[in-house]
Amino acid sequence: MASDRRDQAVRAAVEHALLSESEPVVALLDTAGVRASAAALRAAFAAVTGAPVLHAFAVKASPLVPVLRLLYEEGLGVEVASPGELALARAAGVPPHLTVLDSPAKTTAELREALALGIAVNVDNPQELARLDTLLPAAATGPAAPPPPLGLRVNAQVGGGTIDAMSTATDTSKFGVGLRDAGAREWIVRAFLDRPWLTRLHTHSGSQGVPLDRMAAGVRAVYELAEEINAAAGRRQVDTIDIGGGLPVNFASDEEVPTYGAYARLLAAEVPGLFDGRYGLVTEFGRSLLAKHGTVLARVEYTKTSGARPIAVTHAGVQVATRTVYAPASWPLRIAAYDAGGRPKDGPAVEQDVAGPACFAGDLLAVARPLPRLAPGDVVAALDTGAYYFAHHYAYNSLPRPGAYGYAVRPDGTVRFTTVRPPQPLAEIVAESGGDRRDALVRE
Ligand SMILES: *Cc1c(COP(=O)(O)O)cnc(C)c1O
Repeated sequence: MASDRRDQAVRAAVEHALLSESEPVVALLDTAGVRASAAALRAAFAAVTGAPVLHAFAVKASPLVPVLRLLYEEGLGVEVASPGELALARAAGVPPHLTVLDSPAKTTAELREALALGIAVNVDNPQELARLDTLLPAAATGPAAPPPPLGLRVNAQVGGGTIDAMSTATDTSKFGVGLRDAGAREWIVRAFLDRPWLTRLHTHSGSQGVPLDRMAAGVRAVYELAEEINAAAGRRQVDTIDIGGGLPVNFASDEEVPTYGAYARLLAAEVPGLFDGRYGLVTEFGRSLLAKHGTVLARVEYTKTSGARPIAVTHAGVQVATRTVYAPASWPLRIAAYDAGGRPKDGPAVEQDVAGPACFAGDLLAVARPLPRLAPGDVVAALDTGAYYFAHHYAYNSLPRPGAYGYAVRPDGTVRFTTVRPPQPLAEIVAESGGDRRDALVRE
C-alpha cells in the first residue's frame, strides 16, 4: 500500500540521513505511485474510446525534469505554458509532437518557436489568433511541413468551484474565449471557417474544488461547439478536442478519489459523441497524477506553548507549502507525526500548531491539529504534496530549496532513493541574489 511505502520511506530517509540536522527538510516522491497513476489515466480513457488520446501532463504541477521523463516513459506527453516549462520538457526529451503549448500570454517569439518546433498551440484570445495569422504564412513557406495542430481555448462559462482562485470557468475568467458572451459563438464559428488550419478546441474547466459534473458540462459545451463548427464547414475541420485537466484530489485521506475511471465513464455517458472515434482527444492532468505521491518531511526544531497552545516549530512552512500557508481554508494538508527514528509516533492526540521556519506569524502548516505531542528531533510529514508544493519553492527568508528524492521500496522492504533535485547550496542563493554584483548600487 502507498501509505506503507511512505512509512518505510520516512524511516529510511532518517536512517540514510537524507533528513538530518544539516538538511532539516526533504521532499520524497513515490515512483511506483506516480507510475500507477499514469497507467490508471491511460487505462481509463482507453476503456471508453478507441480514438487516439494524448495525455499531456501539465508541467506546472511538478516542474522537475526527472518527473517529466518518468511520465514520458509511462506514455504521457506534456502541456507547457511558459518558455521555462517548454525548456524543462525538452530537457526531459519529450518530443514536440507530444507537447502542447497553452498560456494566456504567449509572446510572438514563443509562438514562432512553437510553430518552428512543431508543437501544438492552443490560442487564448482573438488578438493571439490575429498574431498567428501573421506568423503562419512565413511558417508555411519554409521547408517545414504543414503547421502543427492549432486550436482555440474556449471558456464554457459553466461556473466555478469552491476555490475562487482555481476556478477557470466563471463568466469573467481570464482564460479563453467566453462561449456565452454576446456574439462569441458566432465569432468562433466564423474564425474556424476562415482558418482551415484551426483544427482543435480546448477547454480546461476543472481544478481543485470543481465538481466532476461541472467539468463534464464544460466538455459537453465544447463538444457541441465542435459539432456546430463542423456542420457549418461541411467537413470534420475540428478533429481533436483538448479537455484540459483539473481532476480534483482528495486531501483528506489516502483514498485516491475521484478516479480517472470514474471521470472517463462520466464523460462517456454525458458526451457520448466525443468517444465514438470521430475526435482525437488531448488531456492535461497535473495535480491528480502527482499530489498523492509526494511527501515533505521536516524535523521539529523546538516545541513550546503560547497562550496555552502547544506549537511545534519545524523546518517546513511557506517555502514548500505556499498555498496552504496563505490560504489554509482552501488547502488543508494532512500532517503525519514520526519520532526521531522515523517511526510513526503514537500517543494521545493533543491539539497543536505545526509551524514553519519563516518569520511571519501565519507560517503554519496546521493549526490546532490533533497529533501525538511532538518533541524536538521528531519528524513531521506534510502528505499529498507531490504537486504544487515542494516543486514550487517560495524563497521567503532566503530559505533554500530542499532536496527532492524519488523512492522505491524493494521486495525485501529496503528503500532505494534517487536524487531528483539536490538540496540548494547557500552559494547558489547568494549567486541568485546578485552576489557577484555587490557594488551595483553604490558605484556611480
Ligand atoms: C493548470 C492547468 C492544467 C492542470 O490542472 P490540474 O488541476 O493540475 O490537473 C491543465 N491545463 C491547463 C491549461 C492548466 O492551466
